[in-house]
Amino acid sequence: LFASVEMAPRDPILGLTEAFNADTRATKVNLGVGVYYDDNGKIPLLAAVREAEKVRLESAPPRGYLPIEGIPGYNTAVQQLLFGADSPLLAAGRVATFEALGGTGGLKIGADFLKRLQPDAQVWISDPSWENHRALFEAAGFKVNAYPYYDATSQGVNFDGMLACLNGLPANSIVVLHACCHNPTGVDLTAEQWPRVVEAVKARGLIAFLDCAYQGFGDGIEADAAALRIFGASGLDFFVSSSFSKSFSLYGERVGALSIVTESKEEAARVTSQVKRVIRTNYSNPPTHGAAVVAAVLTTPALRQQWEKELGEMRERIRAMRTGLVDKLAAAGVSRDFSFVTRQRGMFSYSGLTSAQVDRLRDEYGIYAVGTGRICLAALNSKNLDYVGNAIAAILKG
Ligand code: PMP
Repeated sequence: LFASVEMAPRDPILGLTEAFNADTRATKVNLGVGVYYDDNGKIPLLAAVREAEKVRLESAPPRGYLPIEGIPGYNTAVQQLLFGADSPLLAAGRVATFEALGGTGGLKIGADFLKRLQPDAQVWISDPSWENHRALFEAAGFKVNAYPYYDATSQGVNFDGMLACLNGLPANSIVVLHACCHNPTGVDLTAEQWPRVVEAVKARGLIAFLDCAYQGFGDGIEADAAALRIFGASGLDFFVSSSFSKSFSLYGERVGALSIVTESKEEAARVTSQVKRVIRTNYSNPPTHGAAVVAAVLTTPALRQQWEKELGEMRERIRAMRTGLVDKLAAAGVSRDFSFVTRQRGMFSYSGLTSAQVDRLRDEYGIYAVGTGRICLAALNSKNLDYVGNAIAAILKG
């Protein structure tokens, strides 16, 4: 049965972590990760989460199945976070939300549902994009293409190229957009650019799928939802996948959601009935613990306040590392202007390091980064910043 099964290629980022783990140098640093580490280099367990877990453990709830769409109170809390508690979309009952297994799960249920709705449509992701976008939509049966996004010369967005591409797409093309904190580049669209994307989506009859995996890691919970709010006010139908992996530091609990904005409450009910069939045939119903904890935190005022404070601290720490790295490089005599790093948002930066420079960082300093030059700022801390800054400076100078 398995004699003809070939070995699949290694995941490039997980492969990097394996190489990092095998490295015996005490000074080694892994900038290739996609996880937030605190200043001690540890994945934090947020105090708000710990408290909600304590209460949950003490109440010792029975472990029945959840409804197919997940915990209702969780889904409502997700909607309020994404669209605002006073959103007319929510008042009108236009949004159908499904608890999902992380942001990946939200993307996957959405992709499977879209395949049933639009079997011949093609998918367009940003160039570059999160490495799983392509594989995920291909696995759902779609042909996946890329629209221009990152412009290496300006270290910004090739917005004209992006718009020209979107404006040339056939109706019902599915366009995957990063709502904030673009992975891997850290470069986001501006508040002025989003309405123009909405215009193009409207004019061409495209289907927008917004991926919101880092709400609160850029400029704040509300500010990072700006694209969702602009789409929400447009009258369009669209998809949103969202994740609490980063914002709650709950990676392994797999807490995310799929939200579908429809035209009416009646339409939302029909869509819900069909998405439930997709979920039922995938994994039947979602897990309880992570979503129960997130719902408790979001709806209990004291815990909510604590979480917003802790999220703010994570965001500020990343931003401090951005400034710290830029200052360090300048102090170490690097003449190239790295100020773009402070303008990028979220955990990542397309640093501009070449693949050869990334190799040298690994070989000579035990500093691991993705071959594209993507570095995770959340892997920097007050103890390794000097070492990393000096190493990059040395590589750039010679
Ligand atoms: N989308 C993007 C852009 C991401 O960066 C990630 C995670 N790194 C995800 C989705 C998946 O999120 P999760 O881990 O919650 O499945």
